[in-house]
Amino acid sequence: MLAAIEAGGTKFVCAVGDETGRIVDRIKIPTTIPEETMTEVIKFFKKYTVKSIGIGSFGPIDINEDSPAYGHITSTPKLAWKDYPIVETMKKAFGVPVGFNTDVNAAALGEATFGAAKGLDSCLYITVGTGIGAGAIVQGQLLQGLSHPEMGHILVRRHPNDSYEGNCPYHGDCLEGMAAGPAIENRWGLKGAELSEREEVWDLEGYYLAQAIMQYSLILSPKKIILGGGVSNQKQVFEAIHKYLPEFIQNYISLPELSSYIVKPGLGDDSGISGALMLASRALENN
Ligand code: ADP
Ligand code: ZN
Repeated sequence: MLAAIEAGGTKFVCAVGDETGRIVDRIKIPTTIPEETMTEVIKFFKKYTVKSIGIGSFGPIDINEDSPAYGHITSTPKLAWKDYPIVETMKKAFGVPVGFNTDVNAAALGEATFGAAKGLDSCLYITVGTGIGAGAIVQGQLLQGLSHPEMGHILVRRHPNDSYEGNCPYHGDCLEGMAAGPAIENRWGLKGAELSEREEVWDLEGYYLAQAIMQYSLILSPKKIILGGGVSNQKQVFEAIHKYLPEFIQNYISLPELSSYIVKPGLGDDSGISGALMLASRALENN
């Protein structure tokens, strides 16, 4: 069996399956402290003969194999997990190869293998939820440089009528600080799901996300953009992005028809866990 972990800030999804993406068993474990959460994770996988493990994790994380901190969750605001060596923990428990990447890179891999970008050698997966992050496949490879990309924290141009100061603890009014779920809630005083009828909320959201998508498109030129996360449940967000993106780009580059270029995840909530399964499969091949 291949083992997959989607390590999130509120829950860990663990699954066992195979390289075709088939999942035969899964469990959700709350993210508390590493000692508790990881004990449950290990207990679940010990029921199976695990050949390799793939982990898509919240971060920031260290994915540079030459770094002393490789396989650690690094500067997360979830303090109990700061500097936690999650790869080492799993290697010690199972003695098998471990693939490790960001949750969003894993989701991009899942979508490119089985989902909305199946068969494409490039795609971008953006999540707009508690935070904003994006993962990318470029020329068939997961995008990685010095470290992994942090596309949620790019700077955006403020809407002239928007006086919300932004809530990113590092940058204030970066994209995440202006457009993630908690920013919507702080700005408007209600949760995103309760604001469905307020057109101006989603227009403004689209204004910021279209800027981000313009920049990602200009820099990475992905063949498909997949927009997931809780906020993407508001279909008005897609409509507002369709409105603003052409205004910003001004035909400078030509994009496919927007409703087929920017799409919902083909795998629903399973992009990340399916991608983590592929990380396990790749770890086995590269071993
Ligand atoms: P996480 O990012 O923690 O994995 P989600 O992707 O579900 O989880 O994101 C949670 C955020 O998305 C919250 O800020 C929540 O208010 C917002 N959200 C969830 N569902 C909706 C919805 N239907 N419409 C708008 N916002 C939503
Ligand atoms: Zn930021």
